[in-house]
Amino acid sequence: MMFPLVSNKRIKDSLTKLIEQRRLPHAIIIEGDLGTGKRTLARFIAKASVCDEDVRPCSSCRNCHLADIGSHPDIEVVTTEEKKASITKDQIEKLRSIAYHSAHTAKRRVFIIEQANTMNPASQNKLLKVLEEPPSDVVFILITPSAEALLETVVSRCLVLSLFPPTLEEATEYLVQNKNIDKETAAKLLAEEKNNIGKAILRLEEKKESIGRAIAHDFFDAIERSSPLSAMLITVQLEGNRGETLKFTEELSEILINKVKKAEHLSETAREYVGMYDALCELTPTLNTNINLSLFFSALTAKLSAVKNK
Ligand SMILES: [Zn+2]
Repeated sequence: MMFPLVSNKRIKDSLTKLIEQRRLPHAIIIEGDLGTGKRTLARFIAKASVCDEDVRPCSSCRNCHLADIGSHPDIEVVTTEEKKASITKDQIEKLRSIAYHSAHTAKRRVFIIEQANTMNPASQNKLLKVLEEPPSDVVFILITPSAEALLETVVSRCLVLSLFPPTLEEATEYLVQNKNIDKETAAKLLAEEKNNIGKAILRLEEKKESIGRAIAHDFFDAIERSSPLSAMLITVQLEGNRGETLKFTEELSEILINKVKKAEHLSETAREYVGMYDALCELTPTLNTNINLSLFFSALTAKLSAVKNK
């Protein structure tokens, strides 16, 4: 069975046993910081609960497939409704009313309550009644940053799984293997996100989505090839987009800093990158004025090319 969690070996081992021996408790709390994998783990337990093969989750039966695409009729996810800050009493009332119905296609039903910490005491007491007399073959999974946010009476009826962030080494290894980035980039990203792998992945995705950041790499490659005309043409895509132009300058400055670090100390190459970095720093503040963006890019291209060809 492939666990989707990085690190947290003790939890993985004990859950594997519980699933194998069909002894999953009917109520589980998953607690941990943002990005430690709470939702991923909840979905994994849900999938293992609805799968009916010998090795669960088998990841190939119909139940697993439906769980994977998030549309299994026996896996209900309760989350805060749009524009509401907390799970409401009505939502718990509804959950109670369907919890006692039998499952549709699986042998078990699963209720995942996200942001369980946002339930007020009245809602929690409503939920408690179901936990005290649990319907047979139902699994409740409560997700919360900390179990302390829940009533003692609720916590006492649940198995509490506390997720911890992986070590720097484990997290780096995971990002290199799964996100197609080099070790150095992974380590830097993790350091910025205090080793929180979920946050690091979010940042990575946000970076990929930013056109300004993507263009910074193409622009830099063109300057390196001593091709100012291509560099200028590349920046046309950012015309009129001041926000992405700022991200462009952030990324370009990161690229240059990395280049300086990698170059031999005091070498010609290092001096060249420092010169480019200085030119970028000198020009960037003009973006806070009303400068026309194509003027900014042509000035930047000219300055960087001049340093390159000195
Ligand atoms: Zn299956």
